[in-house]
Amino acid sequence: MKPHFNPYSLARKNQSFYEISFLDKRYAMSSQIEDRPEPIMNKIAFDGIIRAVQPRIRLIRSFDQSSHAYLGFVLRIRGTLAAQLNEFTVGIGTGAQAKHQFRAGDAISGECLPVADPEKEPVEYYKTSKLKLTSRPETTPTAPPPWHRIPPDLPAYRARGHRRLDARTYDVHCLTCIWACRMSVEMIIDHWNPGKKRYRTETFCYGPKSCPLYRPGPTRKVPGRRGMSWTEEDWVDEQATAHRERDE
Ligand code: SF4
Repeated sequence: MKPHFNPYSLARKNQSFYEISFLDKRYAMSSQIEDRPEPIMNKIAFDGIIRAVQPRIRLIRSFDQSSHAYLGFVLRIRGTLAAQLNEFTVGIGTGAQAKHQFRAGDAISGECLPVADPEKEPVEYYKTSKLKLTSRPETTPTAPPPWHRIPPDLPAYRARGHRRLDARTYDVHCLTCIWACRMSVEMIIDHWNPGKKRYRTETFCYGPKSCPLYRPGPTRKVPGRRGMSWTEEDWVDEQATAHRERDE
């Protein structure tokens, strides 16, 4: 029998760290509905300079409930992909980041595949292999913000908690900061019918609350059943980061 692509089981296999909640269970049920044959593709060679290393996270929302799937790290690379000059994002696992300790400025090479389901991934390419750190600049990264050092591991991000970050501020000021994260967001519209979903991206900041570049942007609305919607007010961010001092 032909093998089936199940993003949930793939994520379980590839992730050393995954947050479990009732939302994840719903996600597993609905993912079975979406099983599809896995395409067979040749990997694409890339090389270039890392502009940013950021956490690779999927946010699963169900009205006022949310949980996170910690997928690994995003490398934003300016370089050559399939023999074309480009800027692109590649997903790597926690093991690869722990081994290579990538940071902005590193020159790297490897192979990857286009993501099978762009709505569920915050990167354009993943299943990265043959990763090599080819050189690292001797110069120290510029003074923050934004922060360009080697990022912490994913449990450290989860422990810090995040605040919403204005999408334009992310693009203009935070695109290369280790504390910024553009998450793919999966919204379960009706918890009685978990196959009914919508997708979007949202940007967040895990950085110090004193960062002068930070702008929250408008509050975010989560759609629900029968045209209802829930607004994520400021207290959610305040609660998520209340354990941190302003400069932490
Ligand atoms: S606002 Fe957050 S993500 Fe942006 S530079 Fe400051 S700490 Fe980094």
